[in-house]
Amino acid sequence: MPEISQNIKEVRKRIEKACAGCGRNPADITLIGVTKTVEPDIIREAFSAGIVHFGESFVQEALQKVGALAQIPAQWHFIGHLQTNKAKFVARLFDTLHTLDSEKLALELNRRLQSEGRTLRVLIQVNVSGEKAKSGIAPKQAGMLAQYASTLPNLKLCGLMTIPPFFDAPQKAAPFFAALKSLRDELAAKDVPGHLLSELSMGMTGDFEEAIAQGATMIRVGTAIFGERL
Ligand SMILES: *Cc1c(COP(=O)(O)O)cnc(C)c1O
Repeated sequence: MPEISQNIKEVRKRIEKACAGCGRNPADITLIGVTKTVEPDIIREAFSAGIVHFGESFVQEALQKVGALAQIPAQWHFIGHLQTNKAKFVARLFDTLHTLDSEKLALELNRRLQSEGRTLRVLIQVNVSGEKAKSGIAPKQAGMLAQYASTLPNLKLCGLMTIPPFFDAPQKAAPFFAALKSLRDELAAKDVPGHLLSELSMGMTGDFEEAIAQGATMIRVGTAIFGERL
């Protein structure tokens, strides 16, 4: 798959250019290859081409793939909505969860992680835009959830995540990215120590340059690496 490695090179170039534009270091941006609908063989190719972090959105699909790829030392990120009754799978298989959105889910994850003898890095998903159909906790409640998550020993709170509304012009997403960063600064000043919120997961294929300019440390990129999803 020379195409995949070419795509990855192009994404890295876009990251470098975005970083140059705002005085940031590309080494501070974690590129997560989003592999929903992507077959294990292609994921292996992407790993060979230097992608170490992979993001999956659906528990059922991820279970098969993470198992099939157990030999490669990849880092698995769960980026889809997670129901409490599926928390055990994420606790068992994933390294990072980007979508913590309730105390109930946090407690159940912690319980499952304790019985697995594991820890899980977690980011709180914030519904910055307030869209009804979107998951994530309201900005006003994020501080409480961050405090709660920070008390659970097997959860390693590390940041915030958001998905802005869909826009055809990526610049329109910038205010939502900026809002996530200000929320982080606010919570770090009054709710939890700042080092527990050092990561900002924001930006996808269409808008990651804007996210980087607003402080993203993790970008989640599917289409630009693996092509259009069917
Ligand atoms: C699918 C998905 C992505 C990747 O989107 P692309 O536009 O293909 O880069 C990123 N984040 C989440 C939460 C997703 O579900």
